[in-house]
Amino acid sequence: MTLAGKTAIITGSNSGIGLGVARELARAGADVVLNSFTDRPEDHALADDLCREFGVAARYIAADMTDGSSARALVAQAGRCDILVNNAGIQHVAPVDEFPPATWDRIIAINLSSSFHTIAAALPLMRKAGWGRVVNIASAHGLTASPFKSAYVSAKHGLVGLTKTVALETAEEAITCNAICPGYVLTPLVEAQIPDQMKAHGMGRDEVIRKVMLERQPSRQFATVEEIGGTAVFLCSAAAAQITGTTISVDGGWTAL
Ligand code: NAD
Repeated sequence: MTLAGKTAIITGSNSGIGLGVARELARAGADVVLNSFTDRPEDHALADDLCREFGVAARYIAADMTDGSSARALVAQAGRCDILVNNAGIQHVAPVDEFPPATWDRIIAINLSSSFHTIAAALPLMRKAGWGRVVNIASAHGLTASPFKSAYVSAKHGLVGLTKTVALETAEEAITCNAICPGYVLTPLVEAQIPDQMKAHGMGRDEVIRKVMLERQPSRQFATVEEIGGTAVFLCSAAAAQITGTTISVDGGWTAL
């Protein structure tokens, strides 16, 4: 229980990687604050489940990451933030000359600007506590590009830049700021695409995963949310105290190509 006594805020954590990271932080003993923009009984039930399973304090706070003041209010409402995981993110695929401007703005707001706002709100709390960890969930697309993902690739590259800047501004304090860059991770969202891809390509599940979905991931295996969560726990551990301003790829070799 290395993270006992720490409070972690994880944005966009009612599903997928965010929930997986929250689970691993709770397993390591951290109290957790879950978040998304919805405010449904099932969102709050996720926090109750973590309390029961790991014996930590857990709650769910609704806040929309498209809005900077809501992002700051999330941190203020949590009241304490030793570990900040900026995970909320969306995707849209279209050629740059056809990319809807409102969708561009929304992706930049959620995938990049919300992290600026949560970090700005969290740093004073980390300084007061004398310790802090910022973990930004970027992407292999924070380091490389793909066609038709202009907003996502721009936001994730921006997030890597923000990570380095915050690391330099906090370098002399017991605060670190790093980015995890996942390749393709098997989340419910990705799982749901498999039947359609099987149909479109006339392939079985394993073949469509290997040949189509994981074409750029040399391991030909998805990363898991537990692996991303475990990496976040490592970045919060004493062993990672001097790791700051960097990216850790969890991508099966994607960015080595
Ligand atoms: P997901 O759709 O399961 O998770 C996204 C989370 O963000 C959800 O909890 C959603 O409710 C939340 N969210 C969306 N809009 C929001 C808003 N306006 N305010 C607050 N929360 C909001 O997808 P995921 O695959 O788990 O993605 C999580 C993060 O990981 C994203 O930043 C994504 O870019 C990144 N990522 C995912 C993969 C992958 O293969 N799944 C790979 C690399 C990076």
